[in-house]
Amino acid sequence: MERRTTAGARAAVSRGLATYRRVDYNRHPRRTLAQTRRGGIPISARTLTEAGDGRLTIAIPAKGRLREPSSHLLEVAGLAPEQPGERALAFPCRNAPVDVLLVRAADIPEYVQDGVVDCGITGADLVRERGARVRQLLQLDFGGCTLQAAVPQENEATAVEDLAGMRVATVFPRLTAELLAERDVEVELVDVTGSVEVAPRLGLADAIVDLVSSGNTMRTNGLRSLGVLFSSEAVLISREDPDEDAEQLGRVFKSVVDARAARYLMMNAPAEALPAISNIVPGRRSPTVIPLSEDGMNAVHVLVPAAEVWQLLPKLEEAGASSILLVPVERMLG
Ligand code: AMP
Repeated sequence: MERRTTAGARAAVSRGLATYRRVDYNRHPRRTLAQTRRGGIPISARTLTEAGDGRLTIAIPAKGRLREPSSHLLEVAGLAPEQPGERALAFPCRNAPVDVLLVRAADIPEYVQDGVVDCGITGADLVRERGARVRQLLQLDFGGCTLQAAVPQENEATAVEDLAGMRVATVFPRLTAELLAERDVEVELVDVTGSVEVAPRLGLADAIVDLVSSGNTMRTNGLRSLGVLFSSEAVLISREDPDEDAEQLGRVFKSVVDARAARYLMMNAPAEALPAISNIVPGRRSPTVIPLSEDGMNAVHVLVPAAEVWQLLPKLEEAGASSILLVPVERMLG
């Protein structure tokens, strides 16, 4: 954990160490924190994957928005992660040779790149911001948000291009610089560490670039969006040359992600309604039709996109379907 010294703590730092302007977590005056790490993780830190016991290590966020959905994904994928104690930072899975490491979401791209862990779950925005050389194995369909540029309501800007020449506060300086450069928009970036939304009010910046999901925080702070620069969601990442186990984990997760987006629809229908029903249900496969003991009646089973269910059901009823059942799908392979 990196901490700037408070005024009191700085006074306690001995003369020789004062130039570092940081003290350790316990404010011990003679032990400075290490400088922020640049580049690869030292070999001595690479203990987990080098244990050579054939276990796969996956880093997931220790807290924040991505924590719960990440551990839920491990659970639903059948890995049976053990319940970590309150302070545990690593724990094994019962059903698979996988060890889970809890770390800061922002550190995961580098941990994966440097081989400290085999793979990780984090935000696509953080992967880009850290400039990590990793492979994205899968989009996980949670943690969705967008990186947006915004200005105070009273500002005259109406488009991202209008940011040119402005001071723009963000906690994503690298990603923002890249995205604005792609649009040939030159700005002065103000690198802040949190509470970006208040930067214009404090006079630190004219505009901000920040993550948005509902837009409420921006509105509450009197800001107006100029548009989306980047869409993000949680992703599974591995080293650029993933080993087979990491790719296998990617396939298992994919079966869960795909299944979450689908529903299994079961209904009864008379023979004459079957052509209309086949036309209504979308999907790659034709419905399964099973004759029932009642003459002329059939059971029809079909996999449909979850997002389309609400508009499908009334159409199916109208076409003659009855006893319609909708069930969730746990896994989808092939
Ligand atoms: P957190 O640890 O809660 O600060 O969030 C870390 C990651 O969650 C971000 O880097 C994003 O990938 C994702 N995320 C999803 N929605 C939002 C949001 N509204 N604001 C910030 N981060 C979000």
